[in-house]
Amino acid sequence: MRKGKDQKLPVLAVDLGGTKIIIAIMSHQGEIIARQSYNTLADEGPQAVMNRIFSSIEEVLSQNNLSLSQLSAISIAAAGIIDIKNGVITEAPNLSGWHDIPLKSIVEEKFKLTTFLINDADAAALGEHRFGAGKGLSNLILLTLGTGVGGGIIINSGLYLGSSGSAAEIGHMIIDVNGPKCQCGNNGCLEAFVSGSAIAAEAKSRISQGGKSSLIEMAEGKIENITAEKVYLAAGEGDSLASEVISRAAYYLGIGVVNLVNILNPEMVIIGGSVASMGDILLEPVRQVVKEKAFPLLSQAVKIVPARLGNDAGIFGAAIFALEQ
Ligand SMILES: [Zn+2]
Repeated sequence: MRKGKDQKLPVLAVDLGGTKIIIAIMSHQGEIIARQSYNTLADEGPQAVMNRIFSSIEEVLSQNNLSLSQLSAISIAAAGIIDIKNGVITEAPNLSGWHDIPLKSIVEEKFKLTTFLINDADAAALGEHRFGAGKGLSNLILLTLGTGVGGGIIINSGLYLGSSGSAAEIGHMIIDVNGPKCQCGNNGCLEAFVSGSAIAAEAKSRISQGGKSSLIEMAEGKIENITAEKVYLAAGEGDSLASEVISRAAYYLGIGVVNLVNILNPEMVIIGGSVASMGDILLEPVRQVVKEKAFPLLSQAVKIVPARLGNDAGIFGAAIFALEQ
């Protein structure tokens, strides 16, 4: 790799998610110079997705009249369990077929440029801490609620990575050992209660058991068409089954946040991801559960707020991670 490169050069950041690949170029000062989004098409498998990342990087560079020599590094935020030291995606439930893929060295080999690889929720935590809702704070926790549930922890203004670089798998904190099956194989993980897929599954199950809901009409009679977003919309229109499903998810999210608050005493818990766009219908019950169940000294110290950077938190964080190395 090109050692001793000018660290003032911009970074090319990649956010590799189950649905979208976002590619951005960020200046040393934190300005986004270019940004482009592509479909991941994860079903096509790792090789096809990696080829798509390569061609997308080349496209973004050529559209902006930039060459690889004008970059300081490539930094990738990916949805999965990352071995950060070796730059390996060990597993990724939302990226089909990705097991033990040494993405860092593959990208370095291809582009001959220093490459970093971190977990996407860790990157989002870093992004929200440097540029978003948590700017200026010392200790915060970020949860991303989407298809799955990711987490990132900032302690003393730095990203907490743990001994293998994969700390903060908050989605797999076990909330109820007798709870529903999680993607990871365990039962009752936070993710099995509060992810978008879990919210949709709970609504589908209640309707299959005879529950009455406007969701059936919204899904054009097809239960499989029910999504977390539809549940949210139905709840907003006063549908009681949908409201109960969201209250249940909010309650369990509250229990998860109580555990985090009691263990880490953060100043802020930031909730992001597509499910978090439900806003106060989700966050207000969480605040209530934390007030009731966490120790008062700790619950009074914490603010529970929505994320600010939206879908760009990951690319901001990936770029910052590289710039700060
Ligand atoms: Zn799990």
